[in-house]
Amino acid sequence: SLSERLEGAFKQLKGEGRISDINVASTVKEIRRALVDADVNYKIAKEFTDRVKDKALGEKVITAISPGQLMVKIVKDELVSLMGNTEVEVDLKPNPTIILIAGLQGSGKTTFSGKLANFLKTKKAKKPLLVAGDIYRPAAIDQLQVLGSQIGVEVYSEPENKNAVEIAQNAIKQAKANGNNVIIIDTAGRLAVDEVMMTEVANIKAAVNPQEILFVVDSMTGQDAVNTAKAFNDRLDFSGVVLTKLDGDTRGGAALTIKYTVNKPIKFVSMGEKLDTLDVFYPERMAQRILGMGDITTLVERAQAQFDEEQAKKLEKKIRQNQFDFDDFKEQLQQIKKMGSLKDLLGMIPGIGKAVKDIDISDDAFKGIEAMINSMTPEERGNPDLINGSRRQRIAKGSGKNITDVNQFMKQFDQMRQMMKSMNKIPGGARGFKGLG
Ligand code: GDP
Ligand code: MG
Repeated sequence: SLSERLEGAFKQLKGEGRISDINVASTVKEIRRALVDADVNYKIAKEFTDRVKDKALGEKVITAISPGQLMVKIVKDELVSLMGNTEVEVDLKPNPTIILIAGLQGSGKTTFSGKLANFLKTKKAKKPLLVAGDIYRPAAIDQLQVLGSQIGVEVYSEPENKNAVEIAQNAIKQAKANGNNVIIIDTAGRLAVDEVMMTEVANIKAAVNPQEILFVVDSMTGQDAVNTAKAFNDRLDFSGVVLTKLDGDTRGGAALTIKYTVNKPIKFVSMGEKLDTLDVFYPERMAQRILGMGDITTLVERAQAQFDEEQAKKLEKKIRQNQFDFDDFKEQLQQIKKMGSLKDLLGMIPGIGKAVKDIDISDDAFKGIEAMINSMTPEERGNPDLINGSRRQRIAKGSGKNITDVNQFMKQFDQMRQMMKSMNKIPGGARGFKGLG
């Protein structure tokens, strides 16, 4: 990862009290190259590293963390600050709140509309209405209707009407009559920036005066994403950005460049085709993604008092080599339990953060997990793939849990390993920064 590259570049500094001019120069070059490889625009990467350099010079190196780790932290803090520091949520106060969705064809607008409706319904107790504003492809209406029925959200459409502005206006009337407090208007996109498309969305904007215009962009499209964002923003003056397809092989550098270029907050990130894979955009997490790591530095800092750095390194190595097993899991849980909020700390281990988001890690759940791991044989702990149906039955009996609990735990553990694997899979070498994960 970039963090490893930085730490490597600073090895020679061991023993020195400060990060020096000479050492910083080569590292800064390294960071710049890495950022460009991660789809960050060159000019932005240059400005960025100049700032990092200023900050790094003269920083006192404390014994607890190596200069390399300190450098990682400086870079991460700068990334976070460039992306706006904190999350920015959609303003849901107006009733009804009108949200207009815009972006190129295939960027993920319709999928996002469904996810957003689901998010607002389940997390914000809203009653959304989805509006099928893509009038050019009959399949687009079906697609939205399928999404709507999956999440139990109404969809407004007029299959015969070829006027998207009218449809949007009629939908608002219906929403007011039916008590929908959020209206999400999905629109048609084109393969490239196109005058007809822009005019249509601009006309809808003028007619319905939305509180939010969310520009949806495929994060895999790199620098193109930035140019598209600029074109849409010039025309629509949108209020926020949605980055989709972050589940793919992308480092997320586009997030940095888009924010810098159009100076609009990124509000959501979409990470899969399933409807519950939408998340508010957290600059901190994106910075970690760009760096290709969990928050190793913070973990190291906080863990120092409890267990030594060597152990953390050993764990990290195991994760990187896909050898994380139940023994490691148990050991980590025990170490971490002593240190405060389980969830926070787990979230800092590379690869685990995303996976544990939905796992119940209250103390009770923790006891259950420990009991299940204790009921495994040493072979099973060291080789989780061994654990088949009959072994699960035995583990359930032994731990006093039922088979559903065991199955669920196995599934979560497997997801965690998948997550670690996908972090490790990012190919090495040739693609520079992308290959450093
Ligand atoms: P639209 O043309 O902008 O409405 O785009 P769609 O919502 O129809 O999405 C285009 C394709 O991308 C579909 O196959 C979606 O399933 C897929 N898609 C959308 N969002 C995501 C995402 O976050 N991750 C992945 N992997 N696929 C996505
Ligand atoms: Mg669509």
